Amino acid sequence: MAKVPIAVAYGDGIGPEIMSACLRILDAAGADLEITEIEVGEKVYREGFSSGIRPDTWDILQHTHVLYKAPITTPQGGGYKSLNVTIRNSLGLYANVRPSASYYPVVDTNHPMMDLVIVRENEEDLYAGIEHRQTAEVYQALKLITRPGTEKIVRYAFEFTKRTGRKKVTCLTKDNILKLSDGLFHKVFDEIATEYPTIEAEHMIIDIGTAKLAAQPEIFDVIVAPNLYGDILSDVASQLTGSVGLGVSSNIGDRYAMFEAVHGSAPDIAGRGIANPSGLLLAAVPMLIHLGKADVAERIHNAWKRTLEEGIHTPDIYKADRSKVRVGTTEFAFEVQQRLGYKPEILEAVNYQGDIITQLSMPPTQVNVHKELVGIDVFLDWDEQGRDPSVLGKLLEDKVNSGEMKLVMITNRGLKVYPANEIKTFSTDHWRCRFQQKNNGVISHKQILDLLQKFDAAGLDFIKTENLYTFDGEPAFSLGQGQ
Ligand code: NAD
Repeated sequence: MAKVPIAVAYGDGIGPEIMSACLRILDAAGADLEITEIEVGEKVYREGFSSGIRPDTWDILQHTHVLYKAPITTPQGGGYKSLNVTIRNSLGLYANVRPSASYYPVVDTNHPMMDLVIVRENEEDLYAGIEHRQTAEVYQALKLITRPGTEKIVRYAFEFTKRTGRKKVTCLTKDNILKLSDGLFHKVFDEIATEYPTIEAEHMIIDIGTAKLAAQPEIFDVIVAPNLYGDILSDVASQLTGSVGLGVSSNIGDRYAMFEAVHGSAPDIAGRGIANPSGLLLAAVPMLIHLGKADVAERIHNAWKRTLEEGIHTPDIYKADRSKVRVGTTEFAFEVQQRLGYKPEILEAVNYQGDIITQLSMPPTQVNVHKELVGIDVFLDWDEQGRDPSVLGKLLEDKVNSGEMKLVMITNRGLKVYPANEIKTFSTDHWRCRFQQKNNGVISHKQILDLLQKFDAAGLDFIKTENLYTFDGEPAFSLGQGQ
């Protein structure tokens, strides 16, 4: 059988030591890989490539489709972009898969039964990184949730659950507050759940879901969440296993994939030969499954568990009462190699035969809706007259209200302040002024331009606008708090 191509990045700090150790084990286990080395990280950043990757490296990744990456060091100071974010976005790695299982009794944890996987959306949400400062006081980040992006990640979560023989998917969102964006994520989850009737599907609000995760992680199986929540949840979950250093992250796309340990380049112990290669080795397990080599993945994972339970430990996990031998990186790798073909006796053996997670590429649902423009939110930078909302309201009623368009409300930080609220609260210099057609009917772009000209003539600094639409007659914008 032909060798399978992968790209390998040795990374920085402890990266080269642990990568060499892992590749020796993979080779001994019969992974039969055709490896092309690439250079990413600190050296490349210092050459002046702010993304940490040279432009010609993409050609190699386009050939191999898979990257096995050791941790890199991101130089301190401004101007450097996150290599991981660049790789994720450039290669369309939309799913971030982070398993968190405890290795009790070999590794101490309060949650010996915990065995869950977090499937985190990897490209959207606040990580689109669209931020603006709009006034002296106010900064904004756009949270983008798309239907195609949500369909992909939710379907991936269900498909992953099915193919790994897991039983339940829990979706976590904040759709009680973010009714449109998180509301879409929840809605798509409910829709796709109907395609998998044998898998239990449940939804929880992210706050109570996180509290439950922290207290009873064993009640979860697979969790799917938008990007930011998934990011936080993954760290909470891996902390609970008692072995953050063993965490693994798979980044999966339709055509490409990247596998790495969760820990960093540990510059404090680099070059001393004492780093634990386990996180990076365990990252090779989903990679081998992805490459159709589930049997090799199983052999490595079982040999690693056997080594660990026999008390052969690197200094980071060595405990005098439990460990037997303290070893360095190379010796640990040697001990794992010696155990290839053996199963663990205390820990549960893994069985990955036939358990191949292939890429999913399904066309997004076509959405045919009738969209109508029914108003506009005009955001103002206004810091006059003691920031009195009634003064601003009167000004707009007198100078801007006209023709078919009328001022419906003004909000400050989302709270309706005009027409007046009973309770006076602190206001910033950032005001949302909502205009709609007098009979709540359809408006034209021309009417919006006329309206903005009136703002300009009144000397008001409009900093941004958001059109208000209905889709099939349903309003597609949030109300003001208190409206
Ligand atoms: P870190 O994970 O490198 O180190 C935290 C602590 O854990 C250190 O004491 C370290 O010695 C120890 N440690 C980590 N991995 C270990 C291992 N395999 N064996 C034994 N001990 C280990 O986190 P940090 O110090 O915050 O970051 C160091 C650098 O790594 C930074 O430049 C950071 O940006 C980078 N980083 C890279 C990645 C990545 O490439 N995916 C991820 C996280 C951090």
